[in-house]
Amino acid sequence: MSLLDVRDLRVSYGSADGDVHAVDGVSLSIEAGEFVGLAGESGCGKTTMAMAIPQLLPRNARITSGSVTFDGVDLSALDEHAMRAYRWKEISVVFQGALNALNPVQTIGSQIAEPIRVHDSSVTSAQADDRMRELLEAVGIPSRRAHDFPHQFSGGMRQRVMIAMALACRPRLVIADEPITALDVMTQAQIIDLLQSLSDRYNLAMLLISHDLSVLAQTCDRVAVMYAGKMAETGPSQDVFGESSGQVLARHPYTQRLLRAYPNIHRERVFIDGIPGSPPDLSKPQKGCRFQPRCDVALTQCANVAPELVALNDRHFAACHLLDADSSGVQ
Ligand code: SF4
Repeated sequence: MSLLDVRDLRVSYGSADGDVHAVDGVSLSIEAGEFVGLAGESGCGKTTMAMAIPQLLPRNARITSGSVTFDGVDLSALDEHAMRAYRWKEISVVFQGALNALNPVQTIGSQIAEPIRVHDSSVTSAQADDRMRELLEAVGIPSRRAHDFPHQFSGGMRQRVMIAMALACRPRLVIADEPITALDVMTQAQIIDLLQSLSDRYNLAMLLISHDLSVLAQTCDRVAVMYAGKMAETGPSQDVFGESSGQVLARHPYTQRLLRAYPNIHRERVFIDGIPGSPPDLSKPQKGCRFQPRCDVALTQCANVAPELVALNDRHFAACHLLDADSSGVQ
């Protein structure tokens, strides 16, 4: 049994122009201790899918169908009171933008110790303080700085504080939503190294959301690529983002175009190639493949028939009519 099993999840946002179907039938599983990356353009449903797991969606969003099973329990069936037993203690979140997520008038030490005290009644204040100091040291911040305020830290250090907070109650799954966006390249590398070492040390499973494919390729065991609320391709990182004899191994045209839109420092220098057009308006009914208007290898049926996710091997899946002939449907 997987630690997390998201099945056929659908999430919609209510708006004045009608419902926006941001996540439309997405499935994803994560094993204990596994590092899974979630990629795709802005607005493809990555964050909505991830925030549906701990039920931290905005007020105008609702899960319309599907299930989110964590360690055998269907979280989507739980009410707000029951969900509190899972947030922080089982599943925690590293939000993007640490400056906005931290309380500017509270010391970082008290912000890390607070969830420990609130969510674990067996822990004394002294024990919570000890754990807070241990976490600060684990993320590379000297514990003597526990009494400092967020504005006294750099952006990278604040992100480390956010990671320490996420680990405060020893969760089994951490959802990291663009944890390195807006940081310089050196700090990005340090934060990624930190997440990997903490994952190994605490046997954490991690869902890492990023639009930066190089970060996901470098850090994740498995990756999933979303497009317009659907899963386009998922598989081991080396199968989805790797190359063989100079050819990319990605099988979905969208993943292939995403990879061409990123510079590769291991290859000769070429102009990066953007993807013309923009994703579809998800408040309108969708027909056929959602990538069809931007796909330069589209087939006749692509405009009318939505492709199913098919198995390319036992761990690599993609949803594209080009693959129908040599694969078997899985959904
Ligand atoms: Fe392109 Fe058709 Fe494949 Fe969609 S199903 S990615 S339009 S070839």
